[in-house]
Amino acid sequence: MNIHSLNISGFKSFGKKTEFIFSSAITGIVGPNGSGKSNITEAMRFVLGEQSFKSIRSKDVEDLFFRGEGSRTNMLSVAITFKDTESLMQNSESVFIKNALEAGSVEISRQVYLDGKNIYKINNSEVRLKDVQEMLGALSISLKSNWHISQGASDKILLASSLDRKSIIEDALGLRIYHSKIEDSVKKLEKSNINIREISLKRKELLPELENLSKQIEKIEKSKVYKIDLEKKWQDYAVLKNLEIVNKKNKLQILGGLEDLHIQKETIEKEIVLKQKSVYDSGFHDTNFLQNKKTEEEKMLDILKQKKLGLDTEYNNLLQKNSYSLIEEEKAREELQSIINDLQKIVGENNNMLFKESDVHTLTDELLILKQNIAAEESLKNIKNIFDKAMFFVSQMISKGALVSKDNIQEITYLQSMKTRLENKIQKINEERISFNTKEVDLKPQIENLNLQVNIVLANIEDFYTKIMEYKIVQAESQKDIAQIQNSLHDIENKILQANIVSEEINILEKDFDQDLYEVRSVLGTVAEEYKNISEKEFDEDLKNINLHDLYRQIERLKLKIEEVSIKNQDDISSEYNILKERDVFLLNEIEDLSNSIKNLEQIIKDLKEKLRADFENGINNINKVFDVYIKKLFGGGYGKVVIENILNKEKLEDKEGEENSENKIGVDVEIELPKKKVKGLHSLSGGERALTSIALNFAIIESNFTPFMVLDETDATLDEANAKRYGELLELIKEKTKLIVITHNRETMAFADQVYGITLEKSGASKVLSVSFEDALGYAK
Ligand code: ATP
Repeated sequence: MNIHSLNISGFKSFGKKTEFIFSSAITGIVGPNGSGKSNITEAMRFVLGEQSFKSIRSKDVEDLFFRGEGSRTNMLSVAITFKDTESLMQNSESVFIKNALEAGSVEISRQVYLDGKNIYKINNSEVRLKDVQEMLGALSISLKSNWHISQGASDKILLASSLDRKSIIEDALGLRIYHSKIEDSVKKLEKSNINIREISLKRKELLPELENLSKQIEKIEKSKVYKIDLEKKWQDYAVLKNLEIVNKKNKLQILGGLEDLHIQKETIEKEIVLKQKSVYDSGFHDTNFLQNKKTEEEKMLDILKQKKLGLDTEYNNLLQKNSYSLIEEEKAREELQSIINDLQKIVGENNNMLFKESDVHTLTDELLILKQNIAAEESLKNIKNIFDKAMFFVSQMISKGALVSKDNIQEITYLQSMKTRLENKIQKINEERISFNTKEVDLKPQIENLNLQVNIVLANIEDFYTKIMEYKIVQAESQKDIAQIQNSLHDIENKILQANIVSEEINILEKDFDQDLYEVRSVLGTVAEEYKNISEKEFDEDLKNINLHDLYRQIERLKLKIEEVSIKNQDDISSEYNILKERDVFLLNEIEDLSNSIKNLEQIIKDLKEKLRADFENGINNINKVFDVYIKKLFGGGYGKVVIENILNKEKLEDKEGEENSENKIGVDVEIELPKKKVKGLHSLSGGERALTSIALNFAIIESNFTPFMVLDETDATLDEANAKRYGELLELIKEKTKLIVITHNRETMAFADQVYGITLEKSGASKVLSVSFEDALGYAK
C-alpha cells in the first residue's frame, strides 16, 4: 500500500484544482518561498481530519478558503488517494472499510463550504470523521504520527526534554492512541468513580426509607404468611365446627326435630284431652255419685234390716208365744179332757148331758177353718164374723158342759169350774192365739214387704257396686290409656327438653361460629365467608386428632400475630416499597455495572499500560536498530541509541502520586557517540552533526512504525552540501520502505528525487504546479 495522489481545490493558495501524483519513491517539491509548498502538507493534514486550525496556520475555517485576487471560492476540497490497499483489509472490523480497502483504491476527501458545512467522503460515500479515522487506522496513518517532519520539528526531538521526547517517540510509534485510550479510560474510571460515589450516596439516602419500608414489607409478608396459615386453620376450624353443628342437627333430627316434636306433643295432648273428654262425656268419670247412691242404699238397707230384725223378733216372739200358747192350750185341753172325762164319768149316768168327742172335733175343725179364714181374710169385718161364729160353737159346747149330774155336783161343779176355768183359759189362749195370728198375719206381709225392699235395696247396691266397678274399670282403662299416652307425652317432652338443649347448643354453636366468622373476617376479609358453609365432606382424616378449642386458640394467636404486624395502606406501602426497591436495585445494578466497569477499566488501563510499555520498549528497540545503523551510515561509525530512563529516580521528583503515574515519569534519553570524538553525548555535537543526528533519529522513529508516506518539509534546510549528500543517501535507504515527499531547496537533496513538482505563485495569488525536470528544479535550489 502506498500514497497515490493528492487533489487540492480551493484550499489556501491552491485556488484551482491541483493534482499531485506520487508515482515515484521520492517526490521532490520545489519552489520559491511563499509559493505554497507547505500548504500541500497542510492540505494533507486537513484531509486526514485535522481539527486544529492552529496546526494548519489558520484562525478559522475562512482562512482555509482560497482568497485570490478578486476571487474567492465557496467550497474547498482536498482528496488523498491510496493504492494497493487490499492487504490491509484485516486492519478493520468495519464492513464498509473492509470493502473500500478490498477495492484496492481508497480516496479520502474532505469538503468544506463557506456556510460551515463540512463533508467527509471515502470513495465518494459520505462518511463521519470517525469513519475517516478508522480508515486511517487501517491505513496505519495517524494524524499525529511523524509522517510529516518540518524543519523545526526535525530538531525538536533532540531539543525536547526526555519526557517530551518520549511523547514524540510514542506519537511516532502510534502509541499515542494508547495514551488517549488510557486517558479516556481514566476519565471514564474517574467518571465511574464519581458516578459510583454519587449513586452510592443516592442509595445511602434512600436506604433508611427503604429499610423502614422493608421492615413494613416484612411485616406485610409475615402477615400474608400468617393469613395463609390462618385461612388453612380457619378452614379446618370451619369444617370441624360445621361437623359439630351437623352432628348436633343430626342428633336433633334423631330426636324428631323440635317442630315435629311440638306437633307430636300437641297431638298427644289433644289425644289425652279427647280421651279424658270421652270418659267424662260417657259419665264414667264420676263414681262418687254412684258411691253416694250406693251408700244411700246401704243406709236404707241398714234401716230395712233393722226394721226387719224388729219385725222378725216380734214375729218370732209371736210364733214362740203361739207355740207356747198351743202347748198351754194342749195342756189345758188335756186338763180339760181329763176334767171332761171326769165329768163324763160323773155325767155317764147322764149321757145326754155329756157332749160327745165327735162334737169337740167338729168344733175344733170349725175353729181351724175359721182360723184359716181369718188368716186369709183381710177384712176385719169378715174376721169378726168368723170370730163370732167360733164364739157360737164355743158357747154351745160350754152350754153342754153345764149339764152335769147332781150327784156329783160338787165335783162336777168343781170340775165344771175347772172345766170353765180351763175352757176360759183355752178361750183366752185361743183369743191370744187369734191375736197372735192376727199380729202374725199383720207382720208377715210387712216382713215380706221388708224382705222385698231389702232385696230391692240389695239389688240396687249390687247394681251400684257393679256400676262403680264398671266405671272404675272404664276409668282404669282410660287412665291406663291416658297414662300410656302421657308416657308418650313424657317421652316427647323429654325429647323436646333434649331437643331444646340440642337446639340451644346448635344456636350457641352457630352464634359462636358467626362471632368467630365476624372476628376472622375482620382479619381475612370476605374469603373467611367462603368456608362458613364448608361441607364436612372436606373433613380430612388428620382433623380427627385436632382439638377444636386448641385450633381456635391457634387461630386467636394467629389473629394476634396478624394484628401485631398489621399495617395500614399496605398497597401504598407495597407500591412505594416496589418503587424504592426498584430504584435501589437499579442503583445497585448501576453500582455493580459501574464496579464491573471500574474493574474492566482498571484492567483495560493496566492492559493498555502494559501494552504501551511493551510496544514502547519494542519500538525503542526497533528505533535503536535503525538509529544505530543510520548513525553509522551518516558518520561512518560511532553509535546512536535511545534509552528509557526513569525520571522519578533520576530527578528525585517529590511526586507523591505513587506507582500509578510512574510511567509518566519515564523519559527517553539519546546516547550518541561519533567516531573520533572523545566527548560523547548530544551536547558535544556540531550544528550539522546535530541536524543529521536528529534526522537519523526522526527517520529511525518513523521507519520503526510503518507509514505509507513521509513528508519531509525542508528538513535538510540547515545541512551543508556534504551532509545533504549523506541526507540523500539516507533517503535512498528509507524509500525502500515508504514513499517520500521531500520539500526542499537543496540541490543535493533534489538529486535523489525521482520526480519533481515545481510550485510557483501566480500573480493572482494562486499556487501553480508544474512537473519539472531535475535541471528546472535546480533553478529553485538555493
Ligand atoms: P517557504 O518556502 O518560505 O516556506 P512556502 O512555499 O512553503 O514558503 P507556504 O507557506 O506554503 O509557502 O505558502 C504561503 C503562501 O500561501 C503565501 O503566499 C500566502 O499568501 C498564501 N496563502 C495562505 N493562505 C492563503 C489563502 N487563504 N488564499 C490564498 N493564498 C493564501
